[in-house]
Amino acid sequence: MYNAEQSRYDSMIYRRCGKSGLKLPAISLGLWHNFGHVDDFNIGKEIIFKAFDNGITHFDLANNYGPPPGSAEENFGKILHQYLKNHRDEMIISTKAGYNMWPGPYGDFGSKKYLIASLNQSLKRMNIDYVDIFYHHRPDKETPLEETIEALIHIIKQGKALYIGISNYSAEDTQKVYQLLKKNNISLLIHQPKYSMFERWIEDKLDKMLKKNGIGSIAFSPLAQGILTNKYLKGIPSDSRAAKKHGFLQKSAITPKVIEKINQLNNIALKRDQSLAQMALAWVLRNPSITSVLVGVSKVSQLTDNLNTLKNLHFCSEELTLIDNILK
Ligand code: NDP
Repeated sequence: MYNAEQSRYDSMIYRRCGKSGLKLPAISLGLWHNFGHVDDFNIGKEIIFKAFDNGITHFDLANNYGPPPGSAEENFGKILHQYLKNHRDEMIISTKAGYNMWPGPYGDFGSKKYLIASLNQSLKRMNIDYVDIFYHHRPDKETPLEETIEALIHIIKQGKALYIGISNYSAEDTQKVYQLLKKNNISLLIHQPKYSMFERWIEDKLDKMLKKNGIGSIAFSPLAQGILTNKYLKGIPSDSRAAKKHGFLQKSAITPKVIEKINQLNNIALKRDQSLAQMALAWVLRNPSITSVLVGVSKVSQLTDNLNTLKNLHFCSEELTLIDNILK
């Protein structure tokens, strides 16, 4: 049995996604790692309960999350059906297609054939009728953009997704998507870019483009897959993503130079009375083009730590300058 916390909406902050009618929690939960069949189902379940009990209404998936691919959607679907079914209207569930999912020419990239078949599979795995947001996961240089957009529009018209998102698209390609959709009176709800203290590419052009056109954005890997926390300060823990066989983070990414920067950032975080993870998330949320940060967690305690970010989102200009200097 699971009874959702009565006070679940008391402390979460909800931010409007661009100029849409949809609000997202400032902190959302991503299921890329830690929810596959290789992971402990019960820990995943507890993480989802903790999230929902604290106002995290948005759960982000993709066809290929696992491993094996598809298993994160299966596990999420099970948890949803066994415990959260009555709360479906309180939840924003997203999925994506765009990376390699099944063999042959129709299981990857951005054709209409792939996107429509993939969403049908995702709905089956999660055992739901629709997702709230469907993303094209990455741009495809070979498929005409018009075809990818036609597929997304078809999906909206079928009612299998309520909103459209794109991920990993450049500012220029995002502009094209926005215009193609607009011609059909459909809005581009959201962009999902990689953004953190260590990955600031969106500050160049994308931020401005999104703001100008009223498109929201949700930052993925805001903790640089765990590097922007205090976990790697004294080596590589055996239960960390960098140590796991199926983890996407390579040990080689944690160089002495990176550790030096994390140490310096950690000193600023301590002065703010925050963990480094909290400061890194607050720093992403300081950017006005960002609607929400999409965290991954392997433990309930990490989610508790991340939720406490909301207690201090303010930076003074001296802190921001100090951080900029470390990140140079
Ligand atoms: P993060 O940068 O938040 O990294 C998550 C990892 O950081 C956790 O697995 C954990 O590592 C560690 N961590 C989290 N909180 C803490 C804490 N408080 N203290 C210490 N360690 C902590 O995000 P992800 O890289 O997981 O990405 C988040 C989501 O973004 C994904 O689940 C997915 O939904 C989305 N995403 C989208 C992509 C796209 O192309 N659109 C690509 C990648 C992600 P450990 O496991 O070592 O404990």
